[in-house]
Amino acid sequence: MSKANNSQRTPPHVALFPSAGMDHLTPFLRLATMLASQNCVVTLVTAQPPVSAAESTYLSSFLASHAQIKGLEFQVLPFEPTNLTTDDPFFLQFEATRRSIADDLCIPNYIVLTTSARFFSLMANRPHLTLEKYAKFSGSDKSLEIPGLAPLPLSSIPPPLFNSDHLFTTLITSNATSLSKAKGILMNTFDGFDPETIAALNNGRVISNLPPVLPVGPFETYELKQGHHLPWLDDQPAESVLYVSFGSRTTMSKDQIRELGHGVERSGCRFLWVLKAKKVDKEELEELLGVSFLERTKNKGMVVKGWVNQEAILEHPAIGGFLSHCGWNSVMEVTRQGLPILAWPQHGDQKINAEVAEKAGLGLWIRQWGWGGGGGGGVRLVRGEEIGEKVIELMGDENLRAKARKVGEEARKAGDEGGSSKKVLQGVIEMLKPI
Ligand code: UDP
Ligand code: UDP
Ligand code: UDP
Repeated sequence: MSKANNSQRTPPHVALFPSAGMDHLTPFLRLATMLASQNCVVTLVTAQPPVSAAESTYLSSFLASHAQIKGLEFQVLPFEPTNLTTDDPFFLQFEATRRSIADDLCIPNYIVLTTSARFFSLMANRPHLTLEKYAKFSGSDKSLEIPGLAPLPLSSIPPPLFNSDHLFTTLITSNATSLSKAKGILMNTFDGFDPETIAALNNGRVISNLPPVLPVGPFETYELKQGHHLPWLDDQPAESVLYVSFGSRTTMSKDQIRELGHGVERSGCRFLWVLKAKKVDKEELEELLGVSFLERTKNKGMVVKGWVNQEAILEHPAIGGFLSHCGWNSVMEVTRQGLPILAWPQHGDQKINAEVAEKAGLGLWIRQWGWGGGGGGGVRLVRGEEIGEKVIELMGDENLRAKARKVGEEARKAGDEGGSSKKVLQGVIEMLKPI
């Protein structure tokens, strides 16, 4: 069949099934609109009940404004863990969902990955690594050698991954052993962002029997009717505001939150800070930051508690930099905007993501800050003075900004017609078209 005929074949019907949490739902909604705009029929399957209110709200407004995408609810079977190694509601939902799915549906199956290619390489290798024996070196400067990859500092590996019995590890191990069953692994990244790792994965150097790794990112924004709702931002000068957010799930200790407040205040920069106090949040701003902090900074900054439309904020011309935990979605969102980050990883894949982002030219990562949080477990409290200095560096260094802008240009090129990510996505759709 000729190429012309090929593209005239019926477009495929793609079912997308995001895991728990806004950090999984968001990239899937973006992918859904990207596929729909390439004429695919798209059904979005979502696990019920969702873990957070944000997920239900976003999902219903998304479906209401995208009539061409069908929603299908999937009831998760109740699951009562007997050996509880985590109380993270999102991880418990991942596990409950995994247990609810029959894996013998004969449908071509792709994995959508919501982390960096480098962290994925670690995940894919986890079943072959005896990380337990390195646990005692996790605070040292020793590295782990994984074939095909630059050495991976042990201090960048999320602590639960050293423990084979932790739910975080058992989930990763069970997913890693099923990778070869997938037809491909769609990644929210682009070839130019981390070319060595993507090439090593696709050359079989990292692990054998791996399906093709398909960089189709950064995922595009979809139009959602709600804007940023922050008129304050419209009154700020161009590129003057530091956006501060640690993602949808991260919470810091009260002490660290206060130091962070002092840091942004000392920097003298304007700021927009999205503060999360609990995994499923409750506490009040005044109680956390103090009335006088809010009073002193009211002209310079804005603290919001709760959910904001991060993409809309990052797109706003007043934003000039991002103090970020480096959740992968955030990294790709800021990449699209070509803005520099000050990376402060808190959990999971975020140190490895921070390293990738820094190497790509997106900004700074202050390794001595360690895992954030500043609460218990030997995690260090980072002082406001130090935070303030680095914020000044981030917002003031023209060289950093220029480099980040360049990365942004490459990212947008990858998604344009004829760009590397667009071509990969179109290739996948062609493969899925019924003969
Ligand atoms: N603080 C500090 N560095 C600063 C600003 C404040 O160490 O740059 C201390 C301050 O001495 C006080 C605490 O942090 O003990 C909280 O100060 P703030 O005025 O922000 O809060 P409030 O007193 O309103 O609760
Ligand atoms: N997000 C948002 N508003 C918020 C907090 C987060 O829109 O108030 C979005 C953010 O844009 C990103 C996702 O939620 O798409 C968070 O994912 P990420 O991987 O950055 O971090 P995680 O939540 O997994 O720690
Ligand atoms: N985790 C994560 N993002 C979060 C919360 C947790 O990636 O927002 C990861 C992280 O590695 C964490 C693990 O999941 O350590 C388990 O989380 P939990 O808070 O239950 O355990 P803890 O951090 O107390 O060991």
